[in-house]
Parts: sequence; C-alpha cells; structure tokens
Amino acid sequence: MEAIVLFGPPGSGKGTQAARLVERYDWSHLATGDLFREALARRDPLALKAQDLMKAGQLVSDELVVQMVRKKLSQLQAVGKRGVIFDGFPRNEAQIGHLDTALHDRSIPLLGVLALEVDDELLVRRLSGRRSCPTCGRDYNLYFHPPRVADRCDDDGDVLICRPDDTEKIIRERLRVYGKQTQPVMLAYEKRELLVRVPGHDTPDRVFQQIVGIVNQWTRRRG
Ligand code: AMP
Repeated sequence: MEAIVLFGPPGSGKGTQAARLVERYDWSHLATGDLFREALARRDPLALKAQDLMKAGQLVSDELVVQMVRKKLSQLQAVGKRGVIFDGFPRNEAQIGHLDTALHDRSIPLLGVLALEVDDELLVRRLSGRRSCPTCGRDYNLYFHPPRVADRCDDDGDVLICRPDDTEKIIRERLRVYGKQTQPVMLAYEKRELLVRVPGHDTPDRVFQQIVGIVNQWTRRRG
C-alpha cells in the first residue's frame, strides 16, 4: 500500500480530483471530516466524543483523529487497497508526526504531498456563483455556466437556491481559516521536499493530467 496527502482550499476541485485518483489508481479517499460524519451517523463512541467540537467547527483532539485514522488504515490494508489519499489530515504539525508513525508502523510509504492552488478571487467566484435546483438537483454557476433565464432551472423552471455558507463574506472567512491552518503543515512538507504545488485554475481534465504526471513520477521513483 502507498499514501499521498492532498491539500486544496474550498472550491479548488479537490473532491473531484480525489475521486478521479481513486478510480485511476484503485486508491481509497480518506477524508477525516467524512470519516467523523459517517462514524457519527452510526453512533460510534469515538465520534460521539467529538460531536460538540465538530458542531462548533473546532478541531477534534489529535488523539481522537489519529485513532480514527489508524482504525481506517487497518481496514483498508485488510481489504487489500493499493493506496490511500489523505484529505483534511494532517491539520497541524503534531498530526504530521502521528501520520508518519501510523504509516511507518504499517510499512506504507508516503509518496508525496499535492497542494492544489487557486487564486482567492477565482475561488470566491466559483463558490459564490454556485446555484442548484432544489427539484432536480442540477448545478449551475452564475459566472461560468449560468441558467438561460436568471435564477431559474433550465429543466423545470424552478427557482435556484444557494448554500447558506456560499456568501462572499463567509467564503472569504473559510479561505482565511484554511490558509492559516494549512500553511505551517504545507511548509513542513516543503522542507522535507515532499510537497508539489499544482495550479488548479485550469479545467478538471487538465488539472488531472498534471496530477497523474506527478503521481506516476512518484510511483516510478518508488520502483
Ligand atoms: P472537514 O469536513 O474536513 O471540514 O471536517 C469536519 C470536522 O471534523 C472539523 O471541523 C473537525 O471538527 C473534524 N476534523 C476533521 N479532520 C480533522 C483533523 N485532521 N483534526 C482535527 N479535527 C478534524
């Protein structure tokens, strides 16, 4: 098994790229936020302990996150997954060390760390322009692929809706928090020469091509 870490601010297309990587390399996408939400839904005692912090948007203790990650890694190894993409973890410098130990214990090499980079102004347009149809679920973007009639779904004419956290003020705050949190972690990986920055402003296909080029280099180097 092998591992990579994927960073990218909200709106950078990280979810799309992770899904493509999963399909291409038979890897698993280990997003710690999703892991907590799933565990909470099945009333897992570990996740229940973290519930209040999560609701307040605060970080859960490193100990708890690491326990969840270790459990998940063992499960993935047991089913013979070829690799894992960490997303949302590590979130601070202590977690970098915990990840190193968890991987080392299982003889899983960390191939590298990818950071999708997109200009803040483009992210704000991508996120604040998002609209969807509450009836059929079709997605639009007011700037990049608007509906034919303003605020109406092309298919059923219903009024389009906007996620409550997609307002410009909240988006800028989410981007600020993301930058503040991830900066030291990315710098630590940069010092270890593991970080590769990928421009994420291009089309999903072109961004993916670049990522595949990088990942193939990593896997070849590993031999
Ligand atoms: P996310 O979906 O990545 O924003 O994560 C949702 C919530 O899960 C966060 O607000 C934290 O409460 C918790 N969480 C996820 N990953 C971590 C992590 N690496 N360290 C601490 N808390 C985390």
